[in-house]
Amino acid sequence: MSTNYDTLIIGAGPAGSSAAAVLAEHGRRVLVLEREKFPRYHIGESLLPFTYGPLERLGLIAKMKASAFQKKYSVVFVQPNGRASQPFYFFNRYERDTVAQTWQVLRAEFDQMVMENARAKGATVIEEATVKELLREGGRVVGVRALHKDGAVREHRAPITLDCTGKEAFGALRQGWRVKDPFLNKVAVWTYYKGSNRQCGVDEGQTTVAFVPEKGWFWHIPLHNDLVSVGVVAEGKYLSRDGVRDPERMFQREVAQNLWIQDQLAAGVQTGPHYVTSEFSFHARHCASEGLLLVGDAFAFLDPVFSSGLMLALKSGVLAGDAVHEGLAAGDLSPARFAGYAAGLRRGIENMRKLVYAFYQPDFSFKNVIDRYPAAADDITDCLSGDVDKDFSPLWQKFREFVPLPDDLPLGAPREPETAA
Ligand SMILES: Cc1cc2nc3c(=O)[nH]c(=O)nc-3n(C[C@H](O)[C@H](O)[C@H](O)COP(=O)(O)OP(=O)(O)OC[C@H]3O[C@@H](n4cnc5c(N)ncnc54)[C@H](O)[C@@H]3O)c2cc1C
Repeated sequence: MSTNYDTLIIGAGPAGSSAAAVLAEHGRRVLVLEREKFPRYHIGESLLPFTYGPLERLGLIAKMKASAFQKKYSVVFVQPNGRASQPFYFFNRYERDTVAQTWQVLRAEFDQMVMENARAKGATVIEEATVKELLREGGRVVGVRALHKDGAVREHRAPITLDCTGKEAFGALRQGWRVKDPFLNKVAVWTYYKGSNRQCGVDEGQTTVAFVPEKGWFWHIPLHNDLVSVGVVAEGKYLSRDGVRDPERMFQREVAQNLWIQDQLAAGVQTGPHYVTSEFSFHARHCASEGLLLVGDAFAFLDPVFSSGLMLALKSGVLAGDAVHEGLAAGDLSPARFAGYAAGLRRGIENMRKLVYAFYQPDFSFKNVIDRYPAAADDITDCLSGDVDKDFSPLWQKFREFVPLPDDLPLGAPREPETAA
């Protein structure tokens, strides 16, 4: 049993590794347990401009700039008939040398970089160690039991454990806290192409969102090494119509119906498996209970249409790292301490969620809102770029003239000890 840590972290993805780096930088003793051996495959490759802040805080901007990762300056939307919008360039609103240039990343490489950064700052990261159980004393989480690579099961203890297990949401599931988003439960099918067509110059790394019927969409994300990530997201019923269940057939049928995507992929060669995932939007009822804090996708995950996952994962990791450090310094890690952490994150998630809901409404278009309210363009741009912590209520009022939007979900507050099981 090891007891000499201030914090345990389950999962060395972007959320876990950023929390670990921040805590280690504060001089805290951190143990991260990661099930996989890095580099490991992961989906989620397009960064938002406002990922810049967390990356800067982690000291990773110079590494990103020196990396082979494809630079991304813009997003473009394409109609099913192949007609593309003007590229939306981030530098029309943000500083060219900072926020306005972001990246498309191969996650195996990116996640390894973020994890090694945590190690370099002093965190202990053990790979191929799978957490099987949360250890509890009374209602309090006091550590974890993990199966290590050598086959040994070891107990690790610390005053607080961070659940950074991604959409598997180890802690939220076991506490019965996982709540499906009432509407956002789509299916995604994706694969990779090598040597396919891509734009040139400043547009080379642009994300394309290409619409398919029934409010579905393709992502087209050019990566380095001449790879492109291409996926389709839609209702499961639509993708599996006529009894099609095989991911490759689902994917290729949609490609055959989308002129723009076909045109891009025509010169390329499909490579690797066809992946599929479903029901990936969910929220945790609470952010924390005694001894446990949820971070990144383990706290909440939204439909990926606006690529908010990594920004939220890195940002929540940084915020959680600071909040835990302050709690340790104050000798108070009570769940209530994390109310501000969760409220801030929920605010951003709810803003992004409203955009996502609007996107999936039939006949909604950002253009219609901007035609009626030209000044709304800046707010829409900010929210789409990941600057989500602002009060956008005047914007949502305008949106509601076009489409219904969901109310905020009353979720995420810490679970107070007196109500704990
Ligand atoms: C189809 C799809 C497309 C997406 N596209 C984008 C995109 O374009 N841009 C974007 O920003 N985001 C995208 N995302 C979201 C993005 O992938 C996630 O938001 C991001 O990976 C969250 O990081 P995380 O650190 O919270 O979790 P993860 O990256 O999932 O990391 C969790 C880690 O925990 C480890 N782990 C899990 N269980 C255990 C255990 N019991 N013991 C030890 N370790 C464990 C896992 O091995 C993993 O390494 C997409 C997601 C999906 C599903």
